[in-house]
Amino acid sequence: MNIRNVALWTSLGGLFLLAWVVPGVAPGQQPRRVDDAALRNAGKTGEEWLSYGLTPGETRYSPLNQINATNVSRLGLNWLYEIGPGGGNQEGTLLMSNGTLYGITNWSIVYAVDARTGKEKWRWDPEVNHAAVQPKVCCGIVNRGIAAYDGNIIAPVIDGRLVALNGETGKPVWEARVAYTQDNYSITMAPRIAKGKVIIGVSGAEYPVRGFFEAHDAKTGQFAWRFYTVPGDPSKPFENEDMRRAAATWSTEGMKMGGGGTVWDGMAYDPDANLFYVGTGNAGPWPQDARKQGKDKDNLYAASILAVNPDNGKLAWYFQMVPGDEWDYDSVQQLLLADVTIKGQQRKVIMQANKNGFYYVIDRVTGKFISGQPFAQVTWARGLNEETGKPIINAESYYGTQTIPLAPGPGGAHNWSPMSFNPATGFVYLPASPGGSFNFASDPNFKFQEGRQNMGIAFGGFGRGGAAAAGDAANATGATPVTPPKPLPAPPAIGPVPPEGNGRGGVLLAWDVVNQKERWRAQGGGGIGGGTVSTAGNLVFQVIPDGRLVAYTADKGEKVLDVQTGLRGGMGPPITYMLDGKQYVALAGGQGALPAGRGGAAPPPAPGGAAPAPAAPGGPPPPPAAPAGDAPAAGGRGPGFGGPPVTPKLLVFVLDGKAPLPATLRSRQHLRVGPLRAPKVQREARRVAESIG
Ligand code: CA
Repeated sequence: MNIRNVALWTSLGGLFLLAWVVPGVAPGQQPRRVDDAALRNAGKTGEEWLSYGLTPGETRYSPLNQINATNVSRLGLNWLYEIGPGGGNQEGTLLMSNGTLYGITNWSIVYAVDARTGKEKWRWDPEVNHAAVQPKVCCGIVNRGIAAYDGNIIAPVIDGRLVALNGETGKPVWEARVAYTQDNYSITMAPRIAKGKVIIGVSGAEYPVRGFFEAHDAKTGQFAWRFYTVPGDPSKPFENEDMRRAAATWSTEGMKMGGGGTVWDGMAYDPDANLFYVGTGNAGPWPQDARKQGKDKDNLYAASILAVNPDNGKLAWYFQMVPGDEWDYDSVQQLLLADVTIKGQQRKVIMQANKNGFYYVIDRVTGKFISGQPFAQVTWARGLNEETGKPIINAESYYGTQTIPLAPGPGGAHNWSPMSFNPATGFVYLPASPGGSFNFASDPNFKFQEGRQNMGIAFGGFGRGGAAAAGDAANATGATPVTPPKPLPAPPAIGPVPPEGNGRGGVLLAWDVVNQKERWRAQGGGGIGGGTVSTAGNLVFQVIPDGRLVAYTADKGEKVLDVQTGLRGGMGPPITYMLDGKQYVALAGGQGALPAGRGGAAPPPAPGGAAPAPAAPGGPPPPPAAPAGDAPAAGGRGPGFGGPPVTPKLLVFVLDGKAPLPATLRSRQHLRVGPLRAPKVQREARRVAESIG
């Protein structure tokens, strides 16, 4: 090595050192504030994970490459943290800011953990009235995430509140009311930040609700604006011209029933275009007959993407995926912004892998449709109009009282499970359920009921004649159970034909977004639960709902890691970040005791114990420990995997991590016997009940 190389080497070393010491805050240092500039640049270095989708465009792509395809097999547990008693799936994406990991668990309990030690910094319980709120929550006692801004953590509360907590102490700073469960609303989605505002939507479109999203000042909580997604009570004046236009696409009866169009998952922000994007849920009740309308009513702005100005909530453009939706095709799935070259032109696009089975690429500045192709088996439509992107719906998909199997089902070919976009490959890594279908039939005895779920469909055709499941679902939804007549034949399917043995159940798809083609697929996962992150290490990490953390090479889909975490179910998406020169992968999973009526009966066990200390570097691996805090909960079950639920845990992985995974042996046993014990129809019933949003 000559002198010049030494100098270069030293300066490079200095650069690396600089990059390594910046993340996180040592004790005594002033924490860096998360402001608009920090959020705009979020994800550029990969050091922290400051917002739900990592970047404003929600790409979940990290430029980190310390963990890469050649060494990822050395990934092991560094430490774990007992999140608490649980009560449902962990759907939350963690945040990492200033050396602290933040998460949200069931019943909207928020926690902060020292990312270096795994020690709890604080924990905040909004003390939701369980008995009052639970009957108003359609789809699980879950929350998908939180936001960081101006030293605070902004958390949604499932009962309709929005709360800012001091990031260091967990003490409430402000509280705002968004909606009330008495009005059949709940909040499950992650709030997002745009230009100093926090924007949040509401869940509950299976109840008689009018969907909306609204903005509050992120520093004070003060209400800024609200945008309704459907027109509302026809006896009252329109809030704006957009509502007047929307009302022309509804029947009077349909508007009286609430309309639906709730906002419960996908949002994204383009600071350059100053546009904020929102996906809207299904119209309700499901069948158009129940909404007392003909087939010429589009039901704006349900099942759409809306682009609004974040300063005032004014609508800039809309694109409706499913005019006159009858199939619960919420179009709330992740909205992913990317700049890609299509036919030689640089295009600013917004993309969505919709519940309805089509992958949409749309110009995010104008709202003009660019392309859309099925990524799953689709029978409800024959394709999309090449110019407009409107679906070419098969006539028989407009179901009556006779059952017809249609694909995808209400769980969707893709649901809330986050995908990621890797600019190096041009692929989106999409957790999909490409083989699902559902027996649709309208309920001949449907009567609208205030304050109840009004889906308007008959559940007799549920699965393969599962009378018990049909009854459960009917009890839960207020629908009438009927004896299924012989189903009508399904319309012909379009979409990729799965390779032999690799199409049933959930898969991970590597989807080429420019060419709208599948490039590779791997078995496992699905549109609900877990999710993906892709990295510059030529990797895709995927968390699979059965408890596994797996990794594939991003370009070819070769499996390079497969770890059963021992959590067995209730899995949230993975994140990655850098702290003190090391790259970590973190995730939350496990369920704990499920509330009565969701497969559980027992009260939740006491909060979990302390986290084990990190293993000493280079020391011998500790012996497998008995699982901490895994008190069996009577009657509780994982999502189709059998065995008592594991209490929720936050797991942090690092190269050569040596801490013991929870209950690895036991979880394998459960995995082997679980699926055999759970009849298919029960799983389907549970899946639909927990996924319809
Ligand atoms: Ca829905």
